[in-house]
Amino acid sequence: MNICLPQHDPHPAERKAALAEQQQHYSYNHSAVPGIAMASQVPEKDKSLNTFAWVRDNISLLLRIRANQGLQDIAERGLRPLFIWRLLSAVGLYRVLSNDRRAGFWIALLRTVLTIVQKLERLIGRQPKSEDLEADAKAGKTDLVEERLKSIAVQIQKDRSHLSRRAVIQQKIASGSAIAEAEVGSSLLDYKALFRAYEDLFQLIYLPCISQTFQQDRSFAAQRVAGPNPLVIQQIQSLPAKFPVSDPQFHAVMGPADSLAKAGSEGRLYLADYAVLEGVKTSAFPKAQKYLSAPLLLLAVPQGARSLIPVAIQCDQVPGPTNPVFIPPAEGTPQAEKWSWLIAKTIMQIADGNYHEMISHLGRTHLLMESFVIATQRQIAPNHPLGILLRPHFEGTLFINSSALTGLVNPGGTVEKVMGGELSESLRLAAKGVQGFPFDFNASIIPDSFAARGVDNPAQLPDYPYRDDALLIWEAIHDWVTDYLGLYYDHDAAVQQDTEIQAWVSELVAAEGGHLTGIGEPGSGDPQILTRAYLANAIALIIFTASAQHAAVNFPQATYMTYGPNMPLAGYQPAPTKATGATVQDYLALLPPLDQAESQMNMTYPLGSLYYTRLGDYGAGYFVDPQVKAPLHKFQERLKQIEILIDDRNATRPTFYDVLHPAKIPQSINI
Ligand code: MN
Repeated sequence: MNICLPQHDPHPAERKAALAEQQQHYSYNHSAVPGIAMASQVPEKDKSLNTFAWVRDNISLLLRIRANQGLQDIAERGLRPLFIWRLLSAVGLYRVLSNDRRAGFWIALLRTVLTIVQKLERLIGRQPKSEDLEADAKAGKTDLVEERLKSIAVQIQKDRSHLSRRAVIQQKIASGSAIAEAEVGSSLLDYKALFRAYEDLFQLIYLPCISQTFQQDRSFAAQRVAGPNPLVIQQIQSLPAKFPVSDPQFHAVMGPADSLAKAGSEGRLYLADYAVLEGVKTSAFPKAQKYLSAPLLLLAVPQGARSLIPVAIQCDQVPGPTNPVFIPPAEGTPQAEKWSWLIAKTIMQIADGNYHEMISHLGRTHLLMESFVIATQRQIAPNHPLGILLRPHFEGTLFINSSALTGLVNPGGTVEKVMGGELSESLRLAAKGVQGFPFDFNASIIPDSFAARGVDNPAQLPDYPYRDDALLIWEAIHDWVTDYLGLYYDHDAAVQQDTEIQAWVSELVAAEGGHLTGIGEPGSGDPQILTRAYLANAIALIIFTASAQHAAVNFPQATYMTYGPNMPLAGYQPAPTKATGATVQDYLALLPPLDQAESQMNMTYPLGSLYYTRLGDYGAGYFVDPQVKAPLHKFQERLKQIEILIDDRNATRPTFYDVLHPAKIPQSINI
């Protein structure tokens, strides 16, 4: 072997022994999620992540979530003092941790809880029985304290009576009785109220800004380029036959001076096609029939403008009299005639939410990376330069994926509950994502994937923040990986002769191994890695996917998907068959019932809020080889410059986007 190994690296014989030892602990289970390689046998350390550090970094978030859950339990199951105590402790602990770390911990906790009790009592106009609650608590007069807690819980239940208000509206919808326009606002307020357990005192789950703007076309279009799933739009020169938007319809939106042909020839027409969702069997779990369409969306950049605007939506793939084309209502249209367009946009959002969670998030980041984690552990020795480089980018991935198997994608779990498709169908979409939809591994190299969708020209599509920031991070990672690998491989033959790398790529594509497609040097027949250039591309893509790509699809869950009406994960009415004439009842009936919206919030809020580790931060002394110091420093400095650049961009670009701000990108998929 001609690799110029660093001084500390043991003789290959020792590496072989280390590898053999490691291989015993990892194996595949292909039946856990059909079509996906998941880990079955793994050592405990990999299953548990670095739980202590993970919890430590996120304790205030976890406590907030727990406190919010406690409030829901009180609202649903009644007043149990023990529960309330626990809830208040969680709130108190959260406040202690966020405000007053220096105070004696338990005293501070007790005081915070008691302050909350007293504040609540004032809010509900109740006279405290004892002035000195702290003394009562310390003296063990728990009955006094508990009685006071109980009266507060009555108020909490009352405050959450919006749940029953919404039930009244739902009953009205079901019985076909009229709903006044004025009731719509109060019904949408109920979705906001899910975030507010008790006035500002218990504002634990933050209501995202999108709840104020989600009905605007501008906000709808912005989510295609800076939302949770900015991966679907593609440039088109002309419309596919299955999406017959007419010239008069186009003129109505874009003005008489523009035309489909002109916009197409100037690179200003974009399509979002959700054909992959066609035929997905929908579910009725847990209690109501759900709907999921496979819509088409046409967007265009107006002449001289920077940002896309929505032009037309067709709710399903096959055009026809009962599957019309919807266009935005003209200015000045009365509100009563605007519901059809809002319904069409919501159907689009539902499709995007399902595509996002199953394909872009679960499939193409979490599950795709799992094959790399296992194959690397089985074929690359822990002291191989590649094993050293990749390990931090794999931390916690097996942990979070195996947690998802029991807590999210299990039968009866949250995915089955809130998503549109039957569980097996949702998982089929995830498997499709892993196995090369819409791009296989080699076609996913970041600049190539933008070119393949025709969205790589900023002159034609100026406002695409995900693209612009992703390219910055991609280049930084690619340069870092190239520099790092250059320390150990001084020519292509060194890569070809590295038996561990060749065994690794074979295992990644093997049916009984990683089961991946489109990986290995293009045109090399049997999958092999022949050049340093290909190796750098592949390793950069792995690191990019584990860090930036996962961040891009994971964290917008908290900002775009917690508020149900913006991006419901299922519809509750079939798509309309006429392009106009829908009523407010039709709109409200499409939205998730409030308890379903709450389940969606409970899933997307923690997943989208928990940050652990940071891109480029490998820890002092992680790389033992002194040669690594210079390129690593260069990478870290570059990330700092990118932070400044993204801040600057956000000061001027039309659509704010901070998801790929390097400080917000973790090293690995761990949530
Ligand atoms: Mn995730």
